[in-house]
Amino acid sequence: MDVPIYSLVLYLVAAVLFIIGLMRLSSPATARTGNIMAATGMLIAVVITLLLSEVLNYTMILVGIAIGGIIGGVAARAVRMTAMPQMVGIYNGLGGGASLLIAAAEFFRYYNLDGGFDVQNAATIMVTVLIGAVTFSGSMIAFGKLQGFVESKPITYPFQNIFNLVIFLAILAAIIYLIVAPESIPLFIGLIVVALVLGVLLVIPIGAADMPVVISLLNSYSGLAAAAAGFVLGNMFLIISGALVGASGFILTRIMCRAMNRSLTNVIFGAFGAAAASSAVGGDEGERVVRETSGEEVATLLGYSKRVIIVPGYGLAVAQAQHQVAELADMLEARGVDVKYAIHPVAGRMPGHMNVLLAEANIPYDKLYDLDEINNEFERADVAVIVGANDVVNPVARNVQDSPIYGMPILNADKAQSVIVIKRSLSPGFAGIDNPLFYMDKTMMFFRDAKQAFLEIIDEVKHM
Ligand code: NDP
Repeated sequence: MDVPIYSLVLYLVAAVLFIIGLMRLSSPATARTGNIMAATGMLIAVVITLLLSEVLNYTMILVGIAIGGIIGGVAARAVRMTAMPQMVGIYNGLGGGASLLIAAAEFFRYYNLDGGFDVQNAATIMVTVLIGAVTFSGSMIAFGKLQGFVESKPITYPFQNIFNLVIFLAILAAIIYLIVAPESIPLFIGLIVVALVLGVLLVIPIGAADMPVVISLLNSYSGLAAAAAGFVLGNMFLIISGALVGASGFILTRIMCRAMNRSLTNVIFGAFGAAAASSAVGGDEGERVVRETSGEEVATLLGYSKRVIIVPGYGLAVAQAQHQVAELADMLEARGVDVKYAIHPVAGRMPGHMNVLLAEANIPYDKLYDLDEINNEFERADVAVIVGANDVVNPVARNVQDSPIYGMPILNADKAQSVIVIKRSLSPGFAGIDNPLFYMDKTMMFFRDAKQAFLEIIDEVKHM
């Protein structure tokens, strides 16, 4: 098909908007405009594609856009920040599912055409079916695990990886057969079903603290599925945008693997976290004593400190206590206390969760320190205040080999002179394991909802 020059120029504009938008997402200060730019790029691309294509029914397309737009808009407003990974999981899955449907529709279109398939279109269709189906079913399982619909612990059985390999080889054989002789509808449907099963089998053995990596990897797959669908349809913009999502998702996956000191192969095939969580408590339960504290005691300790490091975690997001944290930090700074924030790369439930949360309370970015920047400072800190964080400060990650988080770099909060932990109980965090930090002599547990705790501490500091 001859593509008019204006559409090529507009596709290029859309692609540039996508790339600049992505670049701007790397800082909270520019992320909002980055998002708007990328969305504008997508709007341009959709309009151009509709103008160029032979559209049979505009009404159906507009109704589809309206329904999808309303669901997306309402979901984006209603979903809690802490449930973001589930939402990303579902959206990844729908992206993969859409690519699968496109490839299936094209299969039947070619099937009914005289002249039928050539090797190139048969190959692109089969590859899109495979990636789209694996992304769809894998993402739905990841969503179910994060939402609690599916067992979140790794589900393992003997010869699991070999079984998955056999299924993958069978799929590969079916794909090769279908590329050479694409006329078999039962084999094509069988390919879709088995690829969906493979998606489920690949994600069930993954669990616990590895889920963020899986979500990010599936995000990358959804981009690859879109790019493959772009080849099926001969749509350049779909190829570009899919490749961008695929590449950026993969970079994020690598960053998260590095943050957890894990290799990607180990996350996917290691069935890590399957180890009995109870064996990872890192201490003799009988001897452990917890020291409880009060708002008054915490206020006194903080008010007379020189250096305080705050470690935010998932519980801070649940309690929505960021404004109270900022208020207390301001009060402490007014008394001459140096206050810093230590941000673990997987704290909370999505990449950058703590940065976004603290930015909401206008906490300056230059007070936020990454793990590598701050870890040596804990030894000099008078107090580490751990707010609703658990796994990211759990010392078992250093030395308990059968712990699901073994090897993950943690914030060295246990090295501070005193440690205050604000959470509601001794319940474990996301990885489901106990934390020996809570039972150390220098640790004081303030059992409260984080917002309530900060309100009490602020009240006490006011009266100092
Ligand atoms: P954790 O999940 O380890 O611990 C959170 C703690 O917050 C819980 O122990 C809970 O204890 C406490 N909490 C819950 N609600 C409140 C509240 N209202 N007030 C005070 N405390 C509360 O959080 P971390 O941030 O330390 O670690 C993140 C974990 O999540 C890691 O294992 C990471 O791998 C995983 N993860 C990260 C993702 C990411 O992309 N960042 C995505 C998905 C998972 P209690 O009930 O006693 O109050």
